[in-house]
Amino acid sequence: MVQVTELGYMGIGVKDLDAWRNFASTIVGLEVSDEGERDRCYLRMDYWHHRFVLHANGSDDLEYLGFRVAGGEEFAEMQHQLTEAGIKFRLGSQEEAIERHVLDVLKLNDPSGNPVEIFHGPEVQFNRPFHPGRRMHGRFKTGANGLGHCIIRQEDDKAAYRFYRALGMRGGVEYKINLGKHVVTPTFMHCNDRDHTVAFGVGPSKRRINHVMLEVDNLDDVGFTEELVRQHKISVNIKTGKHSNDHMYSFYFRNPSGWMLEYGWGARAATKQSEYYVRDVYGHEPEDGGFGE
Ligand code: FE
Repeated sequence: MVQVTELGYMGIGVKDLDAWRNFASTIVGLEVSDEGERDRCYLRMDYWHHRFVLHANGSDDLEYLGFRVAGGEEFAEMQHQLTEAGIKFRLGSQEEAIERHVLDVLKLNDPSGNPVEIFHGPEVQFNRPFHPGRRMHGRFKTGANGLGHCIIRQEDDKAAYRFYRALGMRGGVEYKINLGKHVVTPTFMHCNDRDHTVAFGVGPSKRRINHVMLEVDNLDDVGFTEELVRQHKISVNIKTGKHSNDHMYSFYFRNPSGWMLEYGWGARAATKQSEYYVRDVYGHEPEDGGFGE
């Protein structure tokens, strides 16, 4: 079975591009890269041309997730695998691949209509070292584990599981959280050493995306970021704490589109066997808005 290897890039639709550029650089530490296109700009985390595209289209939501496969052979094999699984896809044109700064791209939708792209061959700019948008103690942790993880909306967790399984991911339920009236059992899918790359099953929401998590390699950047967030009076949705599944020490705050960014450090590698938890290691108490809608 061919497997996607990482969440390589993500497209985000925004109403206020200037607010996002400022937030991404001065709060998060990402590098804003502007190529003079009026409808978009790019955010960098490492040597890649970009990890995020901010599209000034007003949606304030996820536009697409870009999952990488290893190379041209895997890209061809993936098309066969999707056909076998009865998943519709479209081979992107060369113009569409160039727009994403990749060699080849497939376009499809997951069962809840979240746009998904599968690509190989990202443009990597080794002549252009990452330049953080503000001071950082360390760097973002990407490498073989992709840009981070995200929680997205799914109407049918089993259908979503089958879809992401067909992309070569593994995973399952990792939490049973008792909310009194009902128990929430989110599903976490991984495709590399990151505990999860895509997760779902946290309940209905008005947006496609709940949060994106970015990991740093130095604990002090979590503290530094929290100070900046609080100085700028940005809402903290979830206080610092440590997750039981990925062991991430993190906190969640609101981005200019109203959904959340999780800033984390210290994750462990994905477990090879399934486990579940009924609570986090410590912390992660809800603050303003909690886990969001
Ligand atoms: Fe998370």
